[in-house]
Amino acid sequence: MTIDLIVKNNLCTGCGVCISEDQSHQAKMIWNNEGFLVPSLGKSSTQDKMIKVCPFAIQQKNEDELGELFLKLPETQYHDKIGYYYGLYAGYSKQFRETSSSGGIATYVFNALLEQKIVDYLFIVKEVDGQYAYQFFSNVEEITQISKTRYTPVTLEKLFQELSKVDGKVAVSGVACFVKAIRLKQMYDPVLKEKIAFIVGIICGGLKSKYYTDYLAQEAGCKNEYNYAQYRVKNKESYALDYKFSCIEKSDKKIHMVDMQSLGDMWGTGLFKSNACDFCDDVLTELADISLGDAWIDPYDKNGLGNSIIITRTKIAENLIKNGLNKNLLALDVMNTEKIILSQNGSFNHRHKGLAFRVMKVNKEGKLTPRKRNKHMVNQNLLFNFVQNSRLKTRQKSLDYWLETRNHLKFKIKMKPYLENLKFFTLWNHRLIKLKKILLSKKDA
Ligand SMILES: Cc1cc2nc3c(=O)[nH]c(=O)nc-3n(C[C@H](O)[C@H](O)[C@H](O)COP(=O)(O)OP(=O)(O)OC[C@H]3O[C@@H](n4cnc5c(N)ncnc54)[C@H](O)[C@@H]3O)c2cc1C
Ligand code: SF4
Ligand code: SF4
Repeated sequence: MTIDLIVKNNLCTGCGVCISEDQSHQAKMIWNNEGFLVPSLGKSSTQDKMIKVCPFAIQQKNEDELGELFLKLPETQYHDKIGYYYGLYAGYSKQFRETSSSGGIATYVFNALLEQKIVDYLFIVKEVDGQYAYQFFSNVEEITQISKTRYTPVTLEKLFQELSKVDGKVAVSGVACFVKAIRLKQMYDPVLKEKIAFIVGIICGGLKSKYYTDYLAQEAGCKNEYNYAQYRVKNKESYALDYKFSCIEKSDKKIHMVDMQSLGDMWGTGLFKSNACDFCDDVLTELADISLGDAWIDPYDKNGLGNSIIITRTKIAENLIKNGLNKNLLALDVMNTEKIILSQNGSFNHRHKGLAFRVMKVNKEGKLTPRKRNKHMVNQNLLFNFVQNSRLKTRQKSLDYWLETRNHLKFKIKMKPYLENLKFFTLWNHRLIKLKKILLSKKDA
C-alpha cells in the first residue's frame, strides 16, 4: 500500500505524520475538495518510508499490538473494547469545567503536566487569527486559552518538523488515529518516546469536514465570512446535550448562534464525516496515556456544564488523577467497564458492530480498507446492515450536496430523503432489538 492509495481511497484523516518521513521534503498537507487535509506528494517523495507511520496502512500494527508495546504492564488491566488501563472515572475539574467543552479534564491534565514540570511544552489545538490549528504552548498562566474541542480538520504536520528545535519534553492532544500515528513514530524512534512524554487522547466519534463549520455558520444566520467558531457553548441551566454553536461574522463583528439540538442528529447520521472514520475501530483512544470523552450517561448527562469520562492508561496519568482527587481539585466517581462502554454506546454500535458490513461492502466495490481487528468483525442482521448502508450513503451525499449547493437551505432539501431513509431503518432496527429483548425475557421467565 502507498500514501497515494490511502489518499485515493479516502482513508486519510490528515494527521500529517507521514510528511515527517518524506526524505525528499517535498510532501506537504493541503485541503482536498471535500474539505479535509491530505498529503500532497512530490515526485521524489519517499512513500515507502511515509507509509510506515500511516495509521490506515493495510500492513499496519493494530491497537492491541501497539498497546502491548506501549501500555501493557503487570499492573494494567485489559478489556477488549477499552484496551489497557489503570483507572476508570467520570466527573469534572472544579477549576476548568466552566471554560471547557466537557468536564475540563483535558485542561486540568495539561495544566498539571506543565505545573509539575512533567513536560515543558504542550502541542495542542488552539485559536490563531480566529481559526484553529495545532501549536506549541507553555504559558501556564493562560492555560484556559487551550480549552475547548474544535470539530474541524487539524494536522500534526508541524510537530515533527519543529520538535527537535524545542528544548524539553512535550505533551500532545490527539484523536485516536493521530495518537496511533505518534505511537508508530515512537516505535521506530525510541528517542521520541522520551521527547513526547505524554499523550492526551480525545475520544472521537468522527472527523468533520471544514464544510461542517460552514454549514453551522449559515444555520446560525451568518451570511458572509466568519471566524471564532465555538462548537460547544454550554447552557448550565440545562442538560449536557443542550449546547449551541456560535461564530463571529467578520464584516460587522456580530455574534451568530444556533441551538445544536434544532439541527437534528449531526453525529449519528455521519453528516460531513470523513470516509476513513467508517473504518476506525478505536473508540476510546486506546493508545493514549489518558483518554477523555463526554460522559453521555445518566446522571452525568443531566448537567449542562458537562462531565468527562476518564481512562488512565499509564502510571503518570493515574497519579495526575489521584493527586487531583487528594487535593480536592477534581470531583470524580470511579466507573466500571460497563458504564464506560455505555457512555459511548452509539459510537461502539457504529464503529464495532457495523464494521464487518462496511468493510465487506466497500471491498466489493473495489475500494481498499485498512486491516481491522478480527474481534470487531462480526456479521449482523439484515436490518442493521440496511442502517449501515443508509448511513454510508448519507455521509457521502452530505459532502457531495454541500459542494453542489453551498447553501444550508438547499442542502437540507437535498439531504431530506437520505436522512428520512436512515431514520426509517434506524427506527425499525430499534424495534427489532426491543422485540428480541421481550422474547428473550419471556423465554427466561
Ligand atoms: C473531532 C472530535 C470528535 C469528538 N467526538 C466525541 C465523541 O464521539 N464522544 C465523546 O465522548 N467525546 C468526543 N469528543 C471529545 C469531547 O468533545 C471533549 O473534547 C472531550 O471530552 C474533552 O473535554 P474536556 O472538557 O476535558 O476538554 P477541554 O478542557 O475543553 O480541552 C480540550 C482539549 O482538546 C484539544 N483539542 C481541541 N480540538 C482538538 C482536535 N480537533 N484534535 C485534537 N485535540 C483537540 C484542545 O487543545 C484541548 O487541550 C470529540 C472531540 C473531537 C475533537
Ligand atoms: S492518515 Fe496521516 S499518515 Fe496517513 S496518509 Fe493521511 S496524513 Fe499521512
Ligand atoms: S473516528 Fe477514528 S479515524 Fe476518524 S478522526 Fe476519530 S479517531 Fe480518527
